[in-house]
Amino acid sequence: MNSRLLLLLLALTPVAFGDGASDGTAAAPYYDIVLAGGRVMDPESGLDAVRNVGIAGDRIMRISTEPLAGKQVIDAARLVVTPGFIDLHQHAQDAASGRLKAFDGVTTALEMEIGVPDVAAFLTRKSGRSQINYGSTASHAAARSRAFGTPFSEPVLVAPAGPATDNPATAQQIHDMEVSLNAELNAGALGIGMGIQYTPGASRLEVIRMFRLAAARDVPVFTHVRSFGRVEPGSSIEAVGEVIGAAAMTGASLQVVHINSSCMADAPECLSMVAGARARGLDVTVEAYPYIAGFTTINSALFNPGWREKLGVGYDALQMPDTGERLTQQRFDQLHADPAPIEVLIFMNTQERVDAVIANPLVMIASDGEDGHPRNAGTFSRILARHVRELGSITLMDAIRKMSLMPAVRLQKSTHAASRKGRLQEGADADIIAFDPRSVTDRATYQSPRLPSVGMQYVIVNGTVLIARGKLLADRYPGRALELDPEKRR
Ligand SMILES: [Zn+2]
Repeated sequence: MNSRLLLLLLALTPVAFGDGASDGTAAAPYYDIVLAGGRVMDPESGLDAVRNVGIAGDRIMRISTEPLAGKQVIDAARLVVTPGFIDLHQHAQDAASGRLKAFDGVTTALEMEIGVPDVAAFLTRKSGRSQINYGSTASHAAARSRAFGTPFSEPVLVAPAGPATDNPATAQQIHDMEVSLNAELNAGALGIGMGIQYTPGASRLEVIRMFRLAAARDVPVFTHVRSFGRVEPGSSIEAVGEVIGAAAMTGASLQVVHINSSCMADAPECLSMVAGARARGLDVTVEAYPYIAGFTTINSALFNPGWREKLGVGYDALQMPDTGERLTQQRFDQLHADPAPIEVLIFMNTQERVDAVIANPLVMIASDGEDGHPRNAGTFSRILARHVRELGSITLMDAIRKMSLMPAVRLQKSTHAASRKGRLQEGADADIIAFDPRSVTDRATYQSPRLPSVGMQYVIVNGTVLIARGKLLADRYPGRALELDPEKRR
């Protein structure tokens, strides 16, 4: 246990140890919920053994080989009991997606890649209405659109291609972005989200200025890098080099998102670049999702002229979700000109590359979840079913680490609350899942992207049971906000 958890445990209320011993034996600790006899796995301590877990209120109070008494006792025999999964890259923040995430074992899902356009409005909208924990970065894309006089609001995350995405900013506009981002951090944003590929007008200097602001506020930058593919200039290698360079010269912490789709064939080299930066002492981390298709809005700047050459694909690499329609040039032109943010799948990667990325020890799992792509519903169970069980390319403990502890550690720069997450330890938050590792599996496909995963027998969020015996319990919204620590606000 780390010292912070120990202090929390000592400070925790004695409420849990009230007059609960109903059989008359004196003073046996009496918990709200006991998970009895499960295979408890904690990726930080390495614990992997049969234990009983006692929950009081919203915390894990006891992990023991001794039997524990509780108001509610859940038989966890034959189940693996782990920290709930933490998804640092979840765009869809509606109730239906929250439900899908819960079935996938996710107890915290944060919009970190891009960030919502208005953090205060987002936190208000979600308060008391979210099944799982939530939070967001401050959005550079939204700050840029505001600076250009064309603000947008949820559910838009990035503006359609236009002056606010494609034109260089003036010195005054860059200053305005900094003012916006500072205000969003003060409202509780957990860092700065930069989808640089969606704002290609952003100069290298503008990027450095945003990193400098992040360093000054001591928060990380999450970034979808400027470009992908092998055509120079503008390769994946150049794009990853840009953000690692910005981190090095400013001192900002950096998470490079979806290294699988940003680097594709060069993912091994991009991961070597990240490893090299870390070896030189930089705080650079990386995530990926386990699917070969990307997904984005067809009128975004990502589809500015030259995209086919960069990706080395044709129009037929694009597929409409649900219907499976593959696009032609004529159909692409029609959809690209539509002002509505129509989403499209891009088949641009290979299974071999994705499998290798997922197995890399540097890579944490994050879904990039959006409605219409199976990754919204299936990412985390797919890791357990395909990569642990079928391929055997990572161990169960490695998978749990990639999906709970690693994202929690990434978040700790922004919020102390994250030090109580991603761990199955006394004093940690009671965000807990219990599943059968032999049967848990994703079911969502490109044609049926909203099929929930199966096999999560119990999902507990902040001490409230959300899923029991594989069924979602109605009208429960135990999700809480993760926000920037008060001492980092101004
Ligand atoms: Zn992205």
